[in-house]
Amino acid sequence: MTNHLETRFIHSTGVDKETGAVNVPIYLSSTYHQPNIDEFGPFDYSRSGNPTRQKLEETIAKLENGTRGFAFSSGMAAISSAFMLLSAGDHVLVSEDVYGGTYRFVTEVLNKFNIDYTFVNMTDLSEMASAIRENTKVIYIETPSNPVMNITDIEIAAKLAKANDCLTFVDNTFMTPLYQNPLDLGADIVLHSATKFLSGHSDIIAGLAVTKDEELGSRLAFIQNTFGSILGAQDSYSLLQGIKTLGARMKQSSASARIIADYLHSHPVVEEVYYPGFRFHPGNPIHERQARGAGAVLSLRLADKAAAKVFVDSLQIPVFAVSLGAVETILSYPATMSHAAMPQKQREQRGITDGLLRLSVGLEYTDDLLEDLEQALKKVHQTSPQAIFSK
Ligand SMILES: *Cc1c(COP(=O)(O)O)cnc(C)c1O
Repeated sequence: MTNHLETRFIHSTGVDKETGAVNVPIYLSSTYHQPNIDEFGPFDYSRSGNPTRQKLEETIAKLENGTRGFAFSSGMAAISSAFMLLSAGDHVLVSEDVYGGTYRFVTEVLNKFNIDYTFVNMTDLSEMASAIRENTKVIYIETPSNPVMNITDIEIAAKLAKANDCLTFVDNTFMTPLYQNPLDLGADIVLHSATKFLSGHSDIIAGLAVTKDEELGSRLAFIQNTFGSILGAQDSYSLLQGIKTLGARMKQSSASARIIADYLHSHPVVEEVYYPGFRFHPGNPIHERQARGAGAVLSLRLADKAAAKVFVDSLQIPVFAVSLGAVETILSYPATMSHAAMPQKQREQRGITDGLLRLSVGLEYTDDLLEDLEQALKKVHQTSPQAIFSK
């Protein structure tokens, strides 16, 4: 019997064998007694392995159809640890509208280790193919991308990578394993900021990585243990609790996001809405092929910064904050938040203009959110009545 993912999320850890407890015990132990000089138990030191963290790592590995999972202290720790598989002299291809922190890691840390990079528009396969060099070792994808929701064909990118002897890394934060499983499409490492949808309650910072290939898994395990940016036992527990409700949360949020995206698209004060579920979104056919849902994040463009400011000041329900993927709707302003690390010119080339806002739809009653958006857009219109867009 193969249960649906929603069922697997709930029962992913099973009950505790020793006690029957329905929740995983939190093992607060840094070290483990060894039977004697020559015998070792299953654990020795919690940087290398902790039973609570191990449950989480096994869970995410199963949910992503991989063989090994790794839990890190943040999404960035997972991402940077994966990049540590590289060596000096290597080159990486990175999606040009990558998460701001990943951009910063690649341009300000990796480069110090003599690892070169090229940012490419991954919606353009020929651009991607022609940017591959002799020493290219990784193709790094984020799809849908943040915040303008560009879609990269994971399967084709992974084929291109394999043909050129490189690995494919996919940041699957926006889709979660409910909607997209990059390993099934040929990717080598799936990465998550589990801070977002997987934990879902804006309470922890966490990262996950999953591999399928055993040898690659061993190499990443070595880096996890050596670099040491592991997730603690309590946060591992919180994250496992979050994963249980992922199916219900993600489906509800995504259903609301679709309604809100349609509403915003039809509103004359909104210049543009980025949402991969739109039939007219250029990446929609690819997205529909490789993912099972459009997700709960969308971006909208207002005329300018002044309009964005009125909108932000007028909205009552959303939290105005960085981050996404939580029970509460989160509104953010990429230009000064998630993409503050990116120079203005690069930002604008990627569509992250001063009028762009990102909305991560939470679990509030959909009509309440619509009403709130409506009154805020009315205020935007009152302050700049000339800014009307027809789409
Ligand atoms: C938040 C985020 C990250 C970074 O994760 P942290 O948990 O904040 O370190 C990476 N990628 C994407 C797409 C994100 O949204």
